[in-house]
Amino acid sequence: MYLDNNATTSVAPEVIEAMTPFFRDLWGNPSSMHAFGGQVRQYVENARRQVADFIGADKSEIIFTSCGTESNNMAIRGTMEASAGRLNFITTRVEHPAVLEPVRMLKDRGYNVIELDVDSSGQIDLGQLKRVLGYGPALVSIMWANNETGVMFPVSEIVDMVKAAGGIMHTDAVQIVGKMPIDLRAIKVDLLSLSGHKLHAPKGIGALYVRKGTRVAPLLLGGHQEGGKRGGTENVPYIVGLGMACELAGKNISGEMTRVSAMRDRLQKGILEKCSNVRVNGDQVHRLPNTLNISFLYIEGESILYHLSDLGIAASSGSACTSGSLEPSHVIRAMGVPFIAAHGSIRFSLSRYNTDADIDYVLESLPPVIKKLRSISPFGRT
Ligand code: PLP
Repeated sequence: MYLDNNATTSVAPEVIEAMTPFFRDLWGNPSSMHAFGGQVRQYVENARRQVADFIGADKSEIIFTSCGTESNNMAIRGTMEASAGRLNFITTRVEHPAVLEPVRMLKDRGYNVIELDVDSSGQIDLGQLKRVLGYGPALVSIMWANNETGVMFPVSEIVDMVKAAGGIMHTDAVQIVGKMPIDLRAIKVDLLSLSGHKLHAPKGIGALYVRKGTRVAPLLLGGHQEGGKRGGTENVPYIVGLGMACELAGKNISGEMTRVSAMRDRLQKGILEKCSNVRVNGDQVHRLPNTLNISFLYIEGESILYHLSDLGIAASSGSACTSGSLEPSHVIRAMGVPFIAAHGSIRFSLSRYNTDADIDYVLESLPPVIKKLRSISPFGRT
């Protein structure tokens, strides 16, 4: 029972099928002048169009990368480098480490970095953003949806504010692409990161959207690929796989959102009914349709996960990067979730491949686990 789809997703059978010929027969280098290369090049360009169509972009605005982490690094480091120190940098305290670590590097290099706070629902204060935009031209990097809580920031309003202040807007959209429709003709971000393995393509492929006219220095120097913006021979099978995953997701995204959110809501309601001392973390209105972050007070999230894992249920205690440590994640801490709840937070994240039977099984299996752990909890609560 796999309920950890914000960590990674299974590769869709259609994606595997689309990729297979590129391991067997179509193995040419797309840069080669001969037929082996030419044959393959058209598939790379077709995948670029599939990705662009899915997010309302032009094909020339898509750069293939190796993952979401690379896309974020390129957007942040590449834009700051291209601006030659002219920009302030604005972000939030709840970004993924793939943004937080480049941010740390910017701080170490003496850039002016401003990190926005979030409130108890995980939302930023647009008033605070407006104030800091007044300090001068900025690169603003704000995630579209949070990986741990599913909380979505109002990117449409944010981008209008950033543009009005003459800034550049990047969004880490790794968690939202494939889960909600995105149209960059309407929402005019300058840079957007996405990652294949969050939408049923394999791990090891991502893309960075760069709006025409936005200046980004390359991270990888060495080849003319991707219009000179990202050197390295293209990972053709994975690029084809990402294109197919975008096309598949685009076919029925609103139907899937409805089905997945109905399952998530039933899971949430069932847990709240069957277990005492539980709280849902994060804004429940502006939230990804597939994500539920829930705290079981007085017990450790890690213990719940071990017990669920024994029962064949895969969930997570938040970001895969912070699980393994018993510290509550930076996201939960930034929201000021009380200590007693922060330690017992669990993330369930669903996909189109989950079924009602999965939800029934979790609702049957989880309450006895909670009961058992509470009976041995040092806090002695039920
Ligand atoms: N950004 C967010 C919000 C994520 O959730 C993740 C992965 O969990 C990443 C970036 C990194 O993506 P990748 O694993 O493709 O490097």
